[in-house]
Amino acid sequence: DAPLLEVEDLFVEFHTRDGVAKVLNGVSYHVDAGETLAVLGESGSGKSVTAQAIMGILDVPPAVVRSGAIRFRGEDLLKVSDGRRTELRGQGLAMVFQDALSALNPVFTVGFQIEEQLRVRLGMSRKDARKRAVELLDLVRIPNAARRVRQYPHEFSGGMRQRAMIAMSLALDPELLIADEPTTALDVTVQAQIMDLLKELQVERKMGLILITHDLGVVAEVADRIAVMYAGKIVEHADAVSLYRNPGHPYTAALLESLPRLDLKGTELKTIRGLPPSLLAIPPGCPFHPRCPMAEDRCRTEVPGDHRLGLGRTSKCHFAEELVGRV
Ligand code: SF4
Ligand code: MG
Repeated sequence: DAPLLEVEDLFVEFHTRDGVAKVLNGVSYHVDAGETLAVLGESGSGKSVTAQAIMGILDVPPAVVRSGAIRFRGEDLLKVSDGRRTELRGQGLAMVFQDALSALNPVFTVGFQIEEQLRVRLGMSRKDARKRAVELLDLVRIPNAARRVRQYPHEFSGGMRQRAMIAMSLALDPELLIADEPTTALDVTVQAQIMDLLKELQVERKMGLILITHDLGVVAEVADRIAVMYAGKIVEHADAVSLYRNPGHPYTAALLESLPRLDLKGTELKTIRGLPPSLLAIPPGCPFHPRCPMAEDRCRTEVPGDHRLGLGRTSKCHFAEELVGRV
């Protein structure tokens, strides 16, 4: 069986005034129904761009898809007709964004915004759409949903707004939900609640879930697999347990070391030295070499390919086997 969603060897460029930015340089990942994939990386690593390519919301014309495939249930969204593409995306895919306040329209009630989708896309009556909107707000654990449905976005707290966004994204019953930094704007307690909610919904509805984040901490408990991105490539891909226990790439190790840990209270957090590279001038060899504490001469010239580490794990580091202790 084909995976629910499969991105294969995707190359995307941005044609800017300053030159061609190589934003995605051969990204491959997949997600199955009932599974949560976390896509992790610093800003500019290409995690949002991959999601935008999947959803068909890349900026045109600066963004150019050079090559690759995005298959949803086996059909390549980059190759099917415009009509079929719209149909596949409309029925199957939904996205939740970081900033619920700008994604919701301030002029309309939360209920109206959910009901509009149901009426336009599913042809529901006003009355049925209202009933369904209340159910959806209830589903995302918004208290007093029957009253809340008549309120405006500004009457909701940040966490409630994000819940309302999630309710809206579930209105058409998607098979795959992509959440791009869904909790970044929220405080830590609310972050955890929203993550738990997404996970619960994913399990209950047997959806595929892609969680995009720069924070390894927030996805620790909910991800089945993790894809770590750097400079438009997936540098490590592993099941969550193995990745946390025993990172297979120095960049993943650095991300883990920069996490606050309860058991190491009071010790200083390590930050990753240097900055991510400009995508207009990605360093030769391993793109991480200017920041890597393990870099050797060959790292400056030889591009590391995927090293297979067993259990479906891969790492793009010349020394991946040594890192995980499997020489
Ligand atoms: Fe570091 Fe070299 Fe591995 Fe790149 S290939 S991550 S520079 S050790
Ligand atoms: Mg982003």
